Amino acid sequence: MTRARGTCGKGMRLRLNGMSELPEPRWLRRYIDHAKDCLGLHAWEILLDITPTPNPEVESADATTYAEPSYLYARIAFRPALVARETNIAKVLVLHELLHVAFALRDQTEDHLNYTLLKPKQRDLFRRLSTQMNEQSVVRLSRALLDLVEPSWQASKAKKNAS
Ligand SMILES: [Zn+2]
Repeated sequence: MTRARGTCGKGMRLRLNGMSELPEPRWLRRYIDHAKDCLGLHAWEILLDITPTPNPEVESADATTYAEPSYLYARIAFRPALVARETNIAKVLVLHELLHVAFALRDQTEDHLNYTLLKPKQRDLFRRLSTQMNEQSVVRLSRALLDLVEPSWQASKAKKNAS
């Protein structure tokens, strides 16, 4: 799981328009819509990209988020095998990426301060430390969130099946 910054600098090449490279698993779109509501991200438009290369610059990445807080627009790329079925691992991965969306404005502001206030020699260290701290928070929160989101998710699935 890579850290996705608000601006996702360093020239990330996610497809910003158009369709996902591979089909979206149906459960995944429903889960993202549900989790978005739980996290207060109602206003965000979130596009999905199911692709073997979620981040072309980090070969091992399972998922990557590009989020643009000014326009409440995000695109999340997932490696297909990891989200093919609704497993707890897949759901934690989704929650992880949605937390990057939730923190996108903070990340963008941090980047802005980094590049305007720090000397070039300090920027890399600041970025590495802030990435590490933010990633750690997102990893811990996404695991905790799974249990908080699960009851309402199961209830919404039961309601859908009954109708
Ligand atoms: Zn991450």
